[in-house]
Order: sequence, then structure tokens, then C-alpha cells
Amino acid sequence: MPEPEVITNVCAMREVVQAKRALGKTIGVVPTMGALHAGHLSLVEKSIEKCDVTVVTIFVNPTQFNEKGDFDRYPQDLNKDLSTLAPLRVDYVFAPTTDSIYPPEDCLTIDVGRLGRILEGRFRPGHFAGVATVLLKLFHIIPADTAFFGEKDYQQLKVTERLVRDSHLPIRIEACPTIREEDGLAMSSRNRFLPEGARENAQSIYLGLQHAQCMVDSGETETEKIIQKLRQQIQTSGGSIEYVAIVDPETLEPVQTIRQAVVALVAIRIDSLRLIDNLLLQPKM
Ligand code: AMP
Repeated sequence: MPEPEVITNVCAMREVVQAKRALGKTIGVVPTMGALHAGHLSLVEKSIEKCDVTVVTIFVNPTQFNEKGDFDRYPQDLNKDLSTLAPLRVDYVFAPTTDSIYPPEDCLTIDVGRLGRILEGRFRPGHFAGVATVLLKLFHIIPADTAFFGEKDYQQLKVTERLVRDSHLPIRIEACPTIREEDGLAMSSRNRFLPEGARENAQSIYLGLQHAQCMVDSGETETEKIIQKLRQQIQTSGGSIEYVAIVDPETLEPVQTIRQAVVALVAIRIDSLRLIDNLLLQPKM
């Protein structure tokens, strides 16, 4: 497989994409923070399948980290990421420096309003402003036709859809399903920091979410009951639940009675590690 061309320069990246577009090629972009795993690769595969040219961005975005320790220990190894991508036909990897994305005296911060302050936003103040700001920049540098995002980070997906809609960017956002480990744990670059003995706690999240779907299947419509059960099922020995919520799939506002599809969202903290997961709960019609 030909190796992807690694581009670090903002202008060079934009020129390459513009030249491809001028030739009538469609462009797919997969924004990532590196430490690539099979979850990321599923997005890349989707882009390769659907677009003529695929750009993977690798940038550990400092503005979306609300805890310095989390940023400092975030795994960064470009060569390893390039090896992970090697079996796939990726055309370009965009790996900019922090200074090129955030020039000195950079004045831009995108506030995505309430959607960025609820759920994850409550526990990670400023996180979605950082996400939205970097994505807006990346979408300007790489004017892609389609950007691929994982449902694993459900709120991020919704924030991104709103960002693109409200800023009139002509980019289609494609949502891709969560890829899981064999035991059901959603793959994440941070799973490697899971403390010894906490795997069972981590597993209990997906088991709980699946049980929530079973409750919906057997006709339960009261979200309060499902939330209570889910809270009971999630084991947090050595950790704590940050939130368990059942919300409208678009607004992410709480739902009391299930009449149509809802999303169950969970966040737990074990030591300094946070795990998030979610599942679309579909009532039988
Ligand atoms: P990150 O590098 O963690 O910022 O993630 C980059 C993209 O990969 C985001 O769109 C994530 O939602 C997506 N992603 C991360 N983990 C998974 C997973 N387990 N399954 C599917 N997509 C994922």
C-alpha cells in the first residue's frame, strides 16, 4: 500500500485539497488526536469507501483538555500511528504543530451554547468550545465533502453537526458506529490507562446499557426506572458515576417517557480516568 503523504504545513494542506477538488475528486476527512485504534480505523475505512481522497488529521488539541494532567499524558507517537494506518489507502496525514493551528495571540473561541455545557460539558468545562474551535479551523484548512465521526463520542458528534449547520459549512457529517473490545468496552485511546482490576467496572457500562435496551424491549417507558437500574448495574469500585442520562438524540435534553428512540449516555470516573459510552434505545413501534 502506498504510504500517506504527511503534511504539517497549513497552507500546503489547503493547496493539496484545493487541487484535488479542482480535479473533481471528493474529499473525506477523519479528525483524530492520534493513538489510533480499530475505532479510528473504522472511520478511515468508511472515508476510503465513500471518497476519492482521504485525509486523516492527527492533532492533540490542547484547548479541549480541561485537565492539564490528561493532556500531558495523552499518548503521542506519529510513527506508530503511521504504521497503524499503513494497511489502509490513506492519501494524506495532516499533523500540524500547535503553533500553526493556534497562532500567537489567536483570538478565536467558538461557543456552542447549551449543547456544550450539559452532560460532558458540565464535567469538562470548556471542552466543547475547544472541540468546536479546532474543528472549525480544520474544516477551513481541509474543505472536505464529508467528515467522519464516531458515535462513541455522541455529544461531540451532535456539537459538530450543529457547528457545521450554524456556520453554514458545506461539509456532510457522517456518523460511524462505536467499535468495541470483545468484552463490550468501547475502544478508546485512554483505555490503556485503566487501572489494574478496573476492567470489570468498565465492562459493566456496556452490560448496563444493553440491559437498558432489554427493559425498553419489555415495554418499560419510564426513563427514571431505567436510569435507576443502570446506576445500580454500573460497578464503580474505586470509581464514581459522573452521570447517567436518557436524552433526546438531537437536543440531548432529558426525556421522561420513551415514545421514540432515545440515547442513554454514561460517564464514569476511575481515578483520573474517565470512561464514556452510550447506546441508542429503540422502543418497539
Ligand atoms: P479521538 O482521537 O479520540 O479524538 O477520536 C477521533 C474520532 O474517532 C472521533 O470521531 C471519535 O468519536 C472516533 N472514535 C473514537 N473511538 C471510537 C470507537 N471506539 N468507535 C468508533 N469511533 C471512535
